[in-house]
Amino acid sequence: MDCIFCDIASKTAEAEIVFENDKYIAFLDINPINYGHTVVIPKTHYDNFLTIPSEELAELTKITQYLAGAVKRALKADGFNIVSNNGLSAGQSVFHFHYHIIPRYENDFFMKPRTLEYNDMEIPSYAEKIKEAVSKYEGLLNG
Ligand code: AMP
Ligand code: ZN
Repeated sequence: MDCIFCDIASKTAEAEIVFENDKYIAFLDINPINYGHTVVIPKTHYDNFLTIPSEELAELTKITQYLAGAVKRALKADGFNIVSNNGLSAGQSVFHFHYHIIPRYENDFFMKPRTLEYNDMEIPSYAEKIKEAVSKYEGLLNG
């Protein structure tokens, strides 16, 4: 499979690696939003947030939490964004699941998606759709 993040994980492509263990690797993004912008991936290829097994997602998230603290301290950032783009429409460009750690500074730039307004009738109908979908998986969540 042609995947740049698999190539980085297997060291057939270069990257500025900042953390690695047997299953996960983190490296600097080549098109950073701010300096120190870091990408964290599982070495195994999974397309996105929905297809990575939940146990691995939990481990990856734990590592990302640790790395976010390190990035924040190292870059003296005021804060950071943890971002995961899933699907073309959401801006995903590399289809190997990853978290972005983006260091942020007071007033560096404005990053908020547009917002929509519900009318009073719409709120319950959207909630119903989601609750119906959730109910099909409740056993999995609680089990
Ligand atoms: P996304 O658009 O959320 O899928 O994020 C993919 C990220 O990977 C983008 O921010 C790219 O700049 C970054 N990227 C793509 N190729 C490389 C590479 N060879 N080394 C480091 N980062 C990369
Ligand atoms: Zn891959």
